[in-house]
Amino acid sequence: MTIEQLPTPSIPGQPFWDQLIFTVGEATLIILALFIIIPVAVICISLLSIHHRKFYFPRLLKAGLTMTEGTVKALCKLFGLDDKELTAFFIHLHNTLSTSAFAAIPIEKRAIFIPQCLRNSQCPANLTPEGLVCKRCGRCEVGENITRLESYGYRVWIAPGSTLIKRMVKKYRPEALIGVGCLMEVKEGIEMSDKLGIIAMGVLTLKDGCVETIVNWSDVYDVALLGIEKKDAQ
Ligand code: SF4
Repeated sequence: MTIEQLPTPSIPGQPFWDQLIFTVGEATLIILALFIIIPVAVICISLLSIHHRKFYFPRLLKAGLTMTEGTVKALCKLFGLDDKELTAFFIHLHNTLSTSAFAAIPIEKRAIFIPQCLRNSQCPANLTPEGLVCKRCGRCEVGENITRLESYGYRVWIAPGSTLIKRMVKKYRPEALIGVGCLMEVKEGIEMSDKLGIIAMGVLTLKDGCVETIVNWSDVYDVALLGIEKKDAQ
């Protein structure tokens, strides 16, 4: 009898360990694939959508971006891509998906939160439990725009921070809101609203910072007037 013909000695319990190692290996491969394939697919579809200015698979994209945000950002950094552009894209995507739901909400059930940084640096507004109350002093555009938005029926707040927003949402229970702010403020506002089941639309300021930032007010009205008859908005 040659060595090849000798029977392989069997170790007690070996089939169990073989199966376990195989299963663990398979699971690891699936997890690795999910952690790499999904974020890479999300980045590719996002870049394609940004490039063509058109959303491909918007609902899937939003779910993918929400699920794999950390990995997507890490991959963006790795490839030298600006993750701010991705965040702006996410906000734009979210707004697009929420447009018809937002337009269906009556204006008296909507709210607008304006960041305090839009005010003039010499603003005389008083801080109250309901945020900063504009005195319409004319030093900045906030006053006249609050007057106009309120004339449509909106509740408008100048928010010194997210705590005020949470408090006002709890107190007045709007069904839809518009959050004006910088990239991170708007993104966090959208996430908070999603958790609370409120339809949120974000409008980004044109300049980041803590004082005298700028917003394109026509961007605010583009959202604020959704679902409103043109004649009602005169
Ligand atoms: S218009 Fe209102 S927000 Fe602007 S500076 Fe005057 S009081 Fe402040």
